[in-house]
Amino acid sequence: MRHDFIDQEERFGAHNYAPLPVVLSHGQGAFLFDCDGRRYLDMMSAYSAASFGHLHPRLVGALKRQLERLDLVSRAYHTDTLGPFCEDLARLTGLDACLPMNTGAEAVETAIKAARRYGYDRLSIPEDQAEIIVAAGNFHGRTTTIIGFSSDAATRRGFGPFAPGFVLVPFGDAGALEAAVGPRTAAVLIEPIQGEAGIILPPPGYLAALRRLCDRHGILLIFDEVQSGFGRTGRTFAFEHEGAKPDGLILGKALGGGLLPVSAFAAKRSLMDVFDPGSHGSTFGGNPLAMAVAREAMHVLQEEHLVERSEKLGGVLLDALRAIDHPAVLAVRGKGLWAGVDLDPALADAKKVCLKMMERGVLTKETHATTIRFAPPLVITEADLLEAVGIFRAVLESLSL
Ligand code: PMP
Repeated sequence: MRHDFIDQEERFGAHNYAPLPVVLSHGQGAFLFDCDGRRYLDMMSAYSAASFGHLHPRLVGALKRQLERLDLVSRAYHTDTLGPFCEDLARLTGLDACLPMNTGAEAVETAIKAARRYGYDRLSIPEDQAEIIVAAGNFHGRTTTIIGFSSDAATRRGFGPFAPGFVLVPFGDAGALEAAVGPRTAAVLIEPIQGEAGIILPPPGYLAALRRLCDRHGILLIFDEVQSGFGRTGRTFAFEHEGAKPDGLILGKALGGGLLPVSAFAAKRSLMDVFDPGSHGSTFGGNPLAMAVAREAMHVLQEEHLVERSEKLGGVLLDALRAIDHPAVLAVRGKGLWAGVDLDPALADAKKVCLKMMERGVLTKETHATTIRFAPPLVITEADLLEAVGIFRAVLESLSL
């Protein structure tokens, strides 16, 4: 049966992913189950989109309640769900206004449009000339504009021509970034911790330095917290680690509670107000089902103390990973329930490690062929977390060196 589904995907699907050979059919909390009923611990959380665990009862309840009231009406009308969502998200982020979209990439595109028009309207940058400074190693999504400023050749190959207006600088080097600020710079767009690059932490003080330099030059600071947001790093948002509140914040993934695609751009009022009627939108952005689930997700995050849990269990995770004494482990780093382990490719093939972990009931996925990531749902128990790390250790030990 398993192979039927895989063959079907192979035959009728696009081959734009290379999934592990497991066919999942249901989930509960930190666990996933394949179609043969085998249980797995989820160490991926759908790239942090399932941070609340699978089918969280409160989120499922919110979705069901909304399903009985109102579905899609578009933004041609007001609803009784959009305002409450915007207020809750504004309060949670400390920003003034929110614009809901669907996917992370769309929210990034929203931020890019906002920054460019702000540059024109407020910073007197000639029309259509604004530049945005971005970091090497970035991952902000898959649209053609966004991949145009990726530093990863495989991400870009053959997909050009690309949009101009982006300046790449090294990640983690505030001095190099400041040197790149010019008369056409409207904004800095950065992931506070680079997720897809392999959970790359900038040096301490980097985010605060970015805040100061953006203030000094009168340019916008925009953080992409699509993956790092909503408790993943042990703070509600990663920028809080250094009190570096941005002018614009891009959110997605966990905002949809693992149930629906929900993203948003949150911003200070003067930035959000570059959008006037007709300048931006989305048919599905802000739809009542999404708003109801996202709002409940914010409440669950706070009422179940998941941020504190992420910080506490994050310490447990890092300690347990660092305690693995194995020659293949080159580096362990992380923040909150988000860790990356670099393996020496000469000693351990990361893909094979993931496959063997899968066979022993733990699901994760390699990043760049050398890094194993750990990003379990924030609701995971300490015992389950330690079991997953124990299986990782056992898999490393089983490799013939
Ligand atoms: N920004 C960041 C930081 C991400 O990690 C991702 C997805 N991995 C995105 C944007 C794009 O989100 P989506 O896949 O929902 O478009």
